[in-house]
Amino acid sequence: MENITFNDNFLTSIPPLFNSSLTNEPHETCCVCEQNLLENNTLYSVEKAIGIDQNTQKQTTVFDYAICFKCSDVLRSSLSKSSQEKFMNFFSDKGVSFEKRAMDMLNNSELRPEEWIDKCMITNKNVTELDSYQLYGFFQGNKMVFNGFPFMLSETVLEELSEGLSEETKGFFDDFVELYLPVDFHGALIKRKLIFI
Ligand SMILES: [Zn+2]
Repeated sequence: MENITFNDNFLTSIPPLFNSSLTNEPHETCCVCEQNLLENNTLYSVEKAIGIDQNTQKQTTVFDYAICFKCSDVLRSSLSKSSQEKFMNFFSDKGVSFEKRAMDMLNNSELRPEEWIDKCMITNKNVTELDSYQLYGFFQGNKMVFNGFPFMLSETVLEELSEGLSEETKGFFDDFVELYLPVDFHGALIKRKLIFI
């Protein structure tokens, strides 16, 4: 995957929703190795957790970060085998095929990110029915890639996924937040939001 370059058929400009909540601009650096992400067709992903105030419907970012493909690969491989398998099986057990999703995306005449993130990929619940949710996007330099990403997961799905993880893996995610995310987001530790990498 590291040496893959996606062609224009897979690419669109970065939707503002995936901008850094701290700068309101596209994420510029990997939160781990700090390499520039917008140059040289670097592959990276962005995760964003959003909370919705039920009275005002106002959406607030709980945390967001960008991580390059190399760093996420290294971190992921340091998880226990059983956690890695749980992550992989979780989606297929729920009937999600990223290959099919990618094909469906490419068969659409237009690549419109909203269409793929306004409903939970697993429960189909709409953003408007949720208290919180997380967004996942995959990028190449200054473009968003449609390769099964982007997707949205609702809180119930994230809770279910996190329940299946060992204490060791949960600790690993806590360490990730503390080491690599700005202090503004350390509240995510307390709320035990699920970091995906
Ligand atoms: Zn990196």
